[in-house]
Amino acid sequence: MGDVTGISWCDHTWSPWYGCTKVSPGCKLCYAEARSRRFKTPAATGTWGPDGVRSINADWDKPLRWDRAAAKAGVRRRVFPSLCDWLEDRDDLVEPRARFLDLIQQTPNLDWLLLTKRPEYFLIRMYQVLEHLDRQEPKPPGYWNVATWLEAGWAPANVWYGVSVEDQERADQRIPALLETPAALRWVSYEPALGPVDFAQWLEPATVFGPGPDDPGFTVPAVDWIVVGGESDQGGEKARPFDVDWARQTVRAGRAAEVPIFVKQLGSNPRPWTWWDESTTPYVERVVRDKKGGVPAEWPPELRVQDFPKRKEAADAQPA
Ligand code: SF4
Repeated sequence: MGDVTGISWCDHTWSPWYGCTKVSPGCKLCYAEARSRRFKTPAATGTWGPDGVRSINADWDKPLRWDRAAAKAGVRRRVFPSLCDWLEDRDDLVEPRARFLDLIQQTPNLDWLLLTKRPEYFLIRMYQVLEHLDRQEPKPPGYWNVATWLEAGWAPANVWYGVSVEDQERADQRIPALLETPAALRWVSYEPALGPVDFAQWLEPATVFGPGPDDPGFTVPAVDWIVVGGESDQGGEKARPFDVDWARQTVRAGRAAEVPIFVKQLGSNPRPWTWWDESTTPYVERVVRDKKGGVPAEWPPELRVQDFPKRKEAADAQPA
């Protein structure tokens, strides 16, 4: 919403609409819902559930201003829509989603970090947008973005397409769908982590061979980046526990495959929340005091890992 965000891996947050419907255990303490309740103004924040109001953002010029500023400064900025799921299934979201994809096309100096818990619906949502845009003359610039993404297998270079997973079951469901989708960069948000996930199988490209010796098969690409985090207390509700070993395992898997990992926070309920600092004699017991566990200086040193992926050139956006 604002120019400044507390999310350490992006520069700005901006959502095309506000509101969502919960789909899995990771949604229980949805930050966007807690924020909506706190402000108690559905017109400005949206509401939750399939019948709730989805309020459309009133300021679509803001990302255009960020884009111009980024171009002038010769830098790129990462923008994250934090108050919606951009692939949510609703008839009233087809038009705003089309407008959003148009906006992405008009802001080439911004990298849009699109995150969903519904990757299996990518194709159908994009076809809905294409049908909607097909009825317009002249075609808006975003039409070509959608048409080529969908039909030519090319993906916009300024979209980092990601899925959110909270445990192994959701990782098994959502990451294969992510890897089937053409994208310049594919990433996973493992936050709130609610159980261990073995990411190793998705961190190297895999070749799938065809049925016969002459069939070259195809390559399934790898995940390019993982963000890890424990849950934060929200709206007076206590966060579920985050075993810091889940972050350790993810960092180890990333190192082994040379995939960048970003440990964002240990959450409000890290287990354990104290640790022994072995760099001193005698050892000193350190405590995670920050209410979101978001201060790296309070973490065991091996967890202080906040790496970003290298931005790929447009040619890499072609499907494998
Ligand atoms: S999908 Fe995301 S935005 Fe939607 S309810 Fe779940 S956590 Fe909230």
